[in-house]
Amino acid sequence: EAFTRNSGYSMSEVLGQNPRILQSGKTARTVFVDMWSKLASGQPWKGELINRRKNGQEYTEEALIYPIRNEAGAVTHYLAYKQDVGDKKTASERIQYLSEFDQLTGLPNRTLLLEQLQFAVSQARREVKPLAVLWLNLDLFRDINNTFGHASGDSVLREAAHRMHEITQEGDIIARYSGDNFVFARANTDQYGAIQMVNQLLNVLSRPIVLQDEELVLTASMGLALYPNDGVSVTDLMRCAETAMYRVKHESRNSYSFYSPDMQERTARALQLTNALKLAFTRQELRLVYQPQVSLQDGHVTGAEALLRWHHPQLGDISPAEFIPLAENAGLGSQVGEWVLQNVLKDLHEWESLGVPLVKVAVNLSAVQFAETDLADKVKFQLEQSKVAPQWLEFELTEIAAMRNPEQAAQSMLDLATLGLKLSIDDFGTGYSSLSHLKRFKVYKLKIDQSFVRNIVDDPEDKAIVDAIISMAHSLGMITIAEGVETSAQLAFLKAHHCDEIQGYLYSRPLRKLDFEQLLRSPPAIDLPA
Ligand code: C2E
Ligand code: MG
Ligand code: MG
Repeated sequence: EAFTRNSGYSMSEVLGQNPRILQSGKTARTVFVDMWSKLASGQPWKGELINRRKNGQEYTEEALIYPIRNEAGAVTHYLAYKQDVGDKKTASERIQYLSEFDQLTGLPNRTLLLEQLQFAVSQARREVKPLAVLWLNLDLFRDINNTFGHASGDSVLREAAHRMHEITQEGDIIARYSGDNFVFARANTDQYGAIQMVNQLLNVLSRPIVLQDEELVLTASMGLALYPNDGVSVTDLMRCAETAMYRVKHESRNSYSFYSPDMQERTARALQLTNALKLAFTRQELRLVYQPQVSLQDGHVTGAEALLRWHHPQLGDISPAEFIPLAENAGLGSQVGEWVLQNVLKDLHEWESLGVPLVKVAVNLSAVQFAETDLADKVKFQLEQSKVAPQWLEFELTEIAAMRNPEQAAQSMLDLATLGLKLSIDDFGTGYSSLSHLKRFKVYKLKIDQSFVRNIVDDPEDKAIVDAIISMAHSLGMITIAEGVETSAQLAFLKAHHCDEIQGYLYSRPLRKLDFEQLLRSPPAIDLPA
């Protein structure tokens, strides 16, 4: 169709004809000589041809011609892919376009964005109207690229751009700033209008995308800055919006935040920690602590959770809850994960050779690690290296991470279970598992989140939730462990409601390696209610 449109010939006029009918006589002979020598030797040829339409008009086309061979190796056909590169006028338009628009998504690029924003800011100033600037960064885009490959990454960017474009209104500014960063601006928009804009974006982005037969739900972190409150120049507005985006990225992802002046400080700390973390491995600032888990049946220690600790010489102890998300954002997620696993296995091996009575040790898996398609292979390799039997290793995956992509989660769990490893779901009750997914997960234990355990004694809702989690787990053939158990009143409630295990300060704080080893040799008794 494109050919008939461009050449002016109808389908019936050209079918079976030789392409020679297009010749204008203007293409240099050397071009044809070059073309045929390539094609005759079986190679594709690329070049420009000056051809003639049916009405006699000349046009320049860029052609890519491939020889096609039959089974015997003889060239039987040629396949030409052609593009009308137009006359000089459109060529200069194209150069203009290339300098202002992003090739991949077709959206304005950074250059055009800055120009348009400048204009929008001047207009807002003249009209004394607000203006909202939004910085959007796709969540976990690096992982999408790593897991599915760059071509898929590109198609995700294109699709995201297309969807953002769907919600634009007349006068909106939308651009691809760089990589997976997009900037959006809407005139005459205050904070209420800005929230509306955010909701529209979250909405269009949340429709699943199918990538290599897997459904993927895109989420994004967004930062908002308002003219004139947060800044009156394009530079300031962009900086504030980006800062606010980073805040979301470090805290929750898949959400938005307005700029506030204290963010600058927090972002500075995040940057400082990220840089320091890269050195923490070689400077041996990381170590593991182990927190025992106890059976409520008979009080014996059934296992332990390995928890990561980072002591920075100047900044002091930094919580894993703070630095693990930073590590993930900096692409250090799997390095941290591998360090933890390797060291847990090293400790297990050592205890075994010292004759310490072993229990299984649970290692926390981050969402990023869990999304790696070669996770099971890596674990298998590390296990073999360590000579530790798989029965001593367990993984904890947070409910939120598991539900991010339940199909893939089910598969990864199966791969890990095949290696003989146990799996539990961490922070259970904070995500939104559906029973149908839970049923298919290869999980033997649910860890009831601390937030429910905390008020279990006096909050009737938390009581009901914990009770429901325990019954549901049992009916699915899983056991339960309550996290963060600090008081004997909590213990009594849990025991009365048939929770299987507990972990928390009541029995023991997380212990350094030697202290934990000591505990394994002679575990203190726990006072269990009848
Ligand atoms: P989590 O896996 O839910 O770990 C339980 C957290 O509760 C730990 O905090 C633990 O020290 C704390 N805790 C234990 N008992 C009690 C108690 O009785 N009361 C209270 N208030 N807290 C208690 P921690 O060690 O600061 O770890 C926080 C989170 O960081 C962990 O939550 C886990 O999600 C993450 N994390 C820790 N180590 C690792 C790791 O090696 N890899 C990954 N990916 N994440 C880790
Ligand atoms: Mg955990
Ligand atoms: Mg937990």
